[in-house]
Amino acid sequence: MESTGRPRIVIVGAGFGGLWAAKALRKADVEVEIIDRHNFHTFFPLLYQVAAAELAPGDISHPVRKIIRRQRNARFTHAEVTGLDSATSTLMTTAGVKNFDYLILAAGSTTIYYGVAGAEAHSFPLRTLEEAVRLRNHLLARFEAAEQLPADARGHELTFLIVGGGPTGVEFAGAIQELINGPLPRDHPRLSVKDARVVLVEAGERLLSVYPEKLSAYARQRLERMGVEVLLGASVEAVDEAGVDLAGGARIDSQTVVWTAGVGGPPDLSAWGLPIGRNGRVEVAPDLSVNGSDHVYVVGDSSQPGEVASPMVAQNATQQGTLAAENILRVVAGQVPHAYSYRDLGNMAVIGRNAAVVHLFGKIAFKGYLAWVMWLALHLAKLIGFRNRVAALLSWAGDYLFRDRVARLITSQPDE
Ligand SMILES: Cc1cc2nc3c(=O)[nH]c(=O)nc-3n(C[C@H](O)[C@H](O)[C@H](O)COP(=O)(O)OP(=O)(O)OC[C@H]3O[C@@H](n4cnc5c(N)ncnc54)[C@H](O)[C@@H]3O)c2cc1C
Repeated sequence: MESTGRPRIVIVGAGFGGLWAAKALRKADVEVEIIDRHNFHTFFPLLYQVAAAELAPGDISHPVRKIIRRQRNARFTHAEVTGLDSATSTLMTTAGVKNFDYLILAAGSTTIYYGVAGAEAHSFPLRTLEEAVRLRNHLLARFEAAEQLPADARGHELTFLIVGGGPTGVEFAGAIQELINGPLPRDHPRLSVKDARVVLVEAGERLLSVYPEKLSAYARQRLERMGVEVLLGASVEAVDEAGVDLAGGARIDSQTVVWTAGVGGPPDLSAWGLPIGRNGRVEVAPDLSVNGSDHVYVVGDSSQPGEVASPMVAQNATQQGTLAAENILRVVAGQVPHAYSYRDLGNMAVIGRNAAVVHLFGKIAFKGYLAWVMWLALHLAKLIGFRNRVAALLSWAGDYLFRDRVARLITSQPDE
């Protein structure tokens, strides 16, 4: 970045934390540079719908350059950040060395496997757009493969096993089951819905453990009514190319094991001299700065401010991104930065058509059709880009009215 004499603020990551930090700086007399290895922002809450062929990848992603086009003090660099030297305020990137006066690191998270043998090698993670497309290709290819097999040999191809009964696992299990119940039998008249199995495996005693118990029970009952097999208190001990072994000796054969069970801070950060705490997240001070410096801040999924609540959800990332930006402006103005506190506006998860759970402000809990309508409206409103909202709405309408999924495309070789 050319020197303009104004404070130079570099933001790593154009996810929820990074973009909201940039937005909070839009009127400030500073230079902002956003760096991301992807040239687009991904709306992760709808990622599972890409994997389930419900939405196209472009419906949930938006070019960063377009998002910041009107922000005159901001620019974007498409590059991978490979190192950080806090002492000299420099970042190493694939686009060269970048100097900064202030840094906001919003590098997101990664899938963790808790050391389960074979899990990383043989299961499908669901944390990036590329992973969602790969999973969609694989899933649809299983139906093509099953069609070539005699009826009694199809079970292995058509058993879809999801590990982790959190929101992503629940939403994805529901979405695959609806794909199986709806459009696929019409595409594959030789296959029967009964040939397919969706199994959701959760080590704890209930699904959606951060929600009130009655919502967990509802989610389980709705999934089972749709045809999903829900296994609670079932730990996966090992994964191989042909299925999983559960604690206690049970075995489930499956060509498709989807791992939604664990998430932690990104792997690179420990090599960058940052203090890594529990779950691989960077330990930050209450004002989100790190290493006792007032010029490096870490936000979102990558950051853990002491014992303060910091869930790995979008609203935490946006709140932290905004505060880090405001704190930098306070430091620049010689003021005292503020401490972070998380405002829990609520959580919601969709289970299937007409069925969702909503938990607002940690107090109000409801489920069913009203929750589903609220889920739809909120996700539509939050999706970045007018075209994306229209595309999502049309796809959902097609799915709801005609049980059709627009994105049933196998775009690469199944084994890629
Ligand atoms: C499948 C799924 C479903 C989810 N559902 C929900 C939901 O329903 N509701 C909810 O609130 N939250 C949900 N979340 C969580 C939510 O998406 C995250 O909490 C949020 O995205 C965190 O924001 P962030 O800015 O910390 O990171 P991210 O949004 O992950 O952004 C990180 C960015 O940093 C970039 N990056 C990382 N490392 C580098 C590097 N070395 N160089 C360059 N760029 C880099 C990445 O490309 C990425 O763009 C979901 C997440 C997933 C994966």
